[in-house]
Amino acid sequence: MGRVLIVGAGIAGLLAAHELRDNGHEVVVVDKGHQPGGRLATRRVGDATFDTGAQFLTVRDPRVGRHLDAWLASGFAREWFRGSPDQPPPQDDGDHPRYRGAPAMRSIAERLAASLLLHLGTRVLGVDVTDGRWRLRLLDREDRPLPVLTGDALLLTPPVPQTRALLADVRLSARTAATLGAIRFDPCLTVLARPDGPTALPPRGAIRLATEPVAWLTDNLVTGASPIPAVTAHATAAFSRARWDAPDAEVARDLLAAAAPHLGTSATGLYVHRWRYAAPIGPPPGADDGIDPDAPVLLDHVEGAPLAVAGDGLTAGRVEGAARSGLAAADALHTALRG
Ligand SMILES: Cc1cc2nc3c(=O)[nH]c(=O)nc-3n(C[C@H](O)[C@H](O)[C@H](O)COP(=O)(O)OP(=O)(O)OC[C@H]3O[C@@H](n4cnc5c(N)ncnc54)[C@H](O)[C@@H]3O)c2cc1C
Repeated sequence: MGRVLIVGAGIAGLLAAHELRDNGHEVVVVDKGHQPGGRLATRRVGDATFDTGAQFLTVRDPRVGRHLDAWLASGFAREWFRGSPDQPPPQDDGDHPRYRGAPAMRSIAERLAASLLLHLGTRVLGVDVTDGRWRLRLLDREDRPLPVLTGDALLLTPPVPQTRALLADVRLSARTAATLGAIRFDPCLTVLARPDGPTALPPRGAIRLATEPVAWLTDNLVTGASPIPAVTAHATAAFSRARWDAPDAEVARDLLAAAAPHLGTSATGLYVHRWRYAAPIGPPPGADDGIDPDAPVLLDHVEGAPLAVAGDGLTAGRVEGAARSGLAAADALHTALRG
């Protein structure tokens, strides 16, 4: 058994932490965010609450399904609706259930984080191996250096471009370096807004759109995340890329003007969140990269010390992909530390 350092308290890092701890390892989780969850994100602005990243999750993998069942039983998740969120649906999506955190998406992460040793507001600046042990160089919220953390194994779960930066000083295998180098992400501009009247979204309170520039709209009052009307508007990747450097006020104005016919009301922008790494692009790494789609993790050794890279970028993306990757990383590190 060993001490495992985990960077990232998103769904991948949190599930890996639980699995490793349940297998007898000491686990330390570090995240630069002030709250756990990563892209399972919820934000308050005044009296309103917004889910700002993922809006729902689907689950097909039985192992992830067992975790979901536990969250449902504890009331930290609930079934939201069945079928396609598109209107009109481009194809029959059967009655496949979509789930949400309850009351908000981050509730799932908060539940998972509650029983873990977690350092929030702690940014990893870089990692290296000294005397066969991993070392994390850290900064606090005010960018002041913190004592180095050391461990027998390291799991990195940030979006892959951020993981690549953390590994800049580390000698990786050619396969790991090439696979990480090939993974790209789309950005997403998200506008949080106060609707000026009642919204006219479908009864579930959300819609996915196939027309530029709005990709998704949610009324967080209807979903139960917010006590008052509160609209989350995600832009398409094309709009997000084109307007990445535009002032917040312009992004909010243009996105909300395009959203108004779908919302059934105008809305006032309150905050713009810039997700630089929202979702992985293109096919997930596959057999050509030596990654088993059923065990979506990269395992390497640096001077004998195990390193795993996980997260949604190692899969086709989404919450479930990240969860599967985190669980696969826990298995890989458990095996490596036992060997
Ligand atoms: C706008 C948007 C909408 C989405 N909608 C959906 C949806 O409806 N359904 C769905 O299934 N998926 C959706 N997704 C995708 C889903 O949110 C992600 O696939 C999933 O949450 C990724 O989890 P993860 O653990 O891999 O990464 P993350 O959640 O990104 O976790 C990585 C963590 O690493 C931390 N970190 C990064 N760098 C450092 C550092 N240097 N030091 C310390 N910590 C660091 C971050 O703070 C973060 O908490 C959406 C994503 C976005 C952005």
